[in-house]
Amino acid sequence: MNPLSMAVATAPQIELKDGLRSPAFDDVYFNTDENLADASYVFLEGNNLIQRWEAQAHEGVQSDVFVVAETGFGSGLNFLLLMKLWQQQKNKPKQLHFISCELHPFGKKQLSKILAQFSELKTQSEALLSHYPNGESIRFGFYRLQLFDSVSLTLMVGDAAACYQQCHAQVDAWFLDGFDPKKNPKMWSNSLFQQINRLSKKGTTIATYTAASSIRRLIESQGFQVNKRKGFGKKREMITAVMLDDVEPVACKQNWAPIKAARHHDEIVVLGGGIAGLSVARACTLAGQSVTLIDKDEPMQGASGNPLGMVMPHLTAQASPEALFYWRAFDFAIHAYLSDSDIFQSIGIKEWCETDKKQLWKKTLFNDHLWPEALIQSSKQGVLYPSAGVIDTQRLKDQWLSYTKQVVVADVVGIKKEGEHWLLLDSHHKVIQSCDVLVVTAGIHSLKFLPFESLPLVPKHGQVSVIESDKPLPFSQVQRHQGYAIPMSKHRCLLGATFDHMNEADWFKAPLLDASHSERNANKWDGFDQWQLPEYKTIFGKAGIRTTTPDHLPVCGNVVDAVTFEQEYADLHHGRHWQQYPEATTHEGLYLMTGLGARGFTSAPLLGQLLADMILDRTLPLEKDLCQQLHPNRFLYRQLKKPPQ
Ligand code: SAM
Repeated sequence: MNPLSMAVATAPQIELKDGLRSPAFDDVYFNTDENLADASYVFLEGNNLIQRWEAQAHEGVQSDVFVVAETGFGSGLNFLLLMKLWQQQKNKPKQLHFISCELHPFGKKQLSKILAQFSELKTQSEALLSHYPNGESIRFGFYRLQLFDSVSLTLMVGDAAACYQQCHAQVDAWFLDGFDPKKNPKMWSNSLFQQINRLSKKGTTIATYTAASSIRRLIESQGFQVNKRKGFGKKREMITAVMLDDVEPVACKQNWAPIKAARHHDEIVVLGGGIAGLSVARACTLAGQSVTLIDKDEPMQGASGNPLGMVMPHLTAQASPEALFYWRAFDFAIHAYLSDSDIFQSIGIKEWCETDKKQLWKKTLFNDHLWPEALIQSSKQGVLYPSAGVIDTQRLKDQWLSYTKQVVVADVVGIKKEGEHWLLLDSHHKVIQSCDVLVVTAGIHSLKFLPFESLPLVPKHGQVSVIESDKPLPFSQVQRHQGYAIPMSKHRCLLGATFDHMNEADWFKAPLLDASHSERNANKWDGFDQWQLPEYKTIFGKAGIRTTTPDHLPVCGNVVDAVTFEQEYADLHHGRHWQQYPEATTHEGLYLMTGLGARGFTSAPLLGQLLADMILDRTLPLEKDLCQQLHPNRFLYRQLKKPPQ
């Protein structure tokens, strides 16, 4: 599986006979008579979970999150049982994260039918199903689902070894549940167990129903001490194991794009109060941290302060990192916004496809007919994104600001590292704030700070206009064509957006509203004879800066020390193998998120989660290859790969 292929996984063939059987693997998912007791005995008791949670709850800080990983998600029954046990347990770490992989995922309807028979797991099943990917055909890749405040799931669709190779996590306990090793050797391969080793640490445990000696040897070869235990019911034995020592870190393919947790994270400061900053603050706070937000203006005054913002996927005709990222981000954003009240309205976005280019795009997109209907539908004149919609930015600001410990309004002119701390300085070199972790989310202003000055960010001057008409507007969904029109009420809509080049001298100045904004935004509808704007008057306009990147993807991750990197990677253009280069040195505790362009409301929540998980060394919501596509160091790496001029 190429993790970025976006290919559709094949759904499983199943037989419902005394439980759930797979004819292809000639093995059972579960037997109806004993499945719940069987799975609880093997996986929950086998990993000694209750005792470990109680012990960890006493230890405090170290045990904020407990991570369980599985091979073979199937019907999710093991996960639901685990979740139930977790919810019943009083003394436990603050959060539970479950990771699983599945080569043949059930479609949502099929899964719903299977789970309906377990009335004792109703609450858990409903939570899973309300977040489970839509449709009966599910695409390869990672899905991050937040089921409850304290329970999250990373579901990786694809082959187990390939998925775990893309996974960044620290696992506490493993459920090895990949069918009988003789019938499905791929789930017990050496390459998968190398990943199990890489993702484990001292004290990590394994439980599996098999007692095969080949599997025992495989587990032992990866540094685990194996114990045999009485098997469930008639089964004689099963295996449990524990990792004895810390695992040696292995060289990873992303040497130039390192993912590094912060050494300390008591004080996290986010510099930049737009949707990017609020998203990081929210994700860090939900993960149990306290966050200070700093901006020279009140939060959400810049481009994020348009009265409404669109949230929609951006599907390129062919599979691309861009399409993959925005599709994931869209799913994640909708769930994040819907978890707070009245921020997001899913009114649907209609995209008109009138040019030949757009028609071709649409044709290619629908050729395989496998996008879920909830994501995109073909319509006569174009496509409809039925679940897409609009954000009320004022409400979002009011609700998401509550995720910050404090908001500081101050003009930061420089940042510097002193000892273990990052200092934020004013124009008199006075310290405004000091912190362990600094996340810069300052759009184009990020370039003012030293480690970022050479990033190839491109600012665009963008303006929106609010117009009002005596006649009712001829649409109730968002319309996209050359520009867009977002209905605000029966007679009022937001038109957008100009997107102009900026001279370098103006990059850091407050963007001015140009008198012709509304005419220019309305002109984008010229020649669009499906509907005309009625007579209108302009009642409001707003100018902002959208920070874009040459490859149309945002910038998100650790900040690399560019000077050292250029020295160490100077001969990259000769084509030496990546393994021959050291891991790039990062600025400890410094992170960046910028370049969100005009799609910030779609991309920011997932990027915020990604950064929070990076900072806190938790399971990342995206494949490592996709993190690499977003890495701030990608531009310098690509530059050094080219022969010098
Ligand atoms: N844990 C599951 C549950 O709670 O319902 C049951 C898992 S079932 C025994 C094994 C699962 O492994 C099946 O869903 C099967 O499709 C999946 N599987 C088989 N080969 C795989 C592979 N190479 N990579 C990922 N998953 C695989």
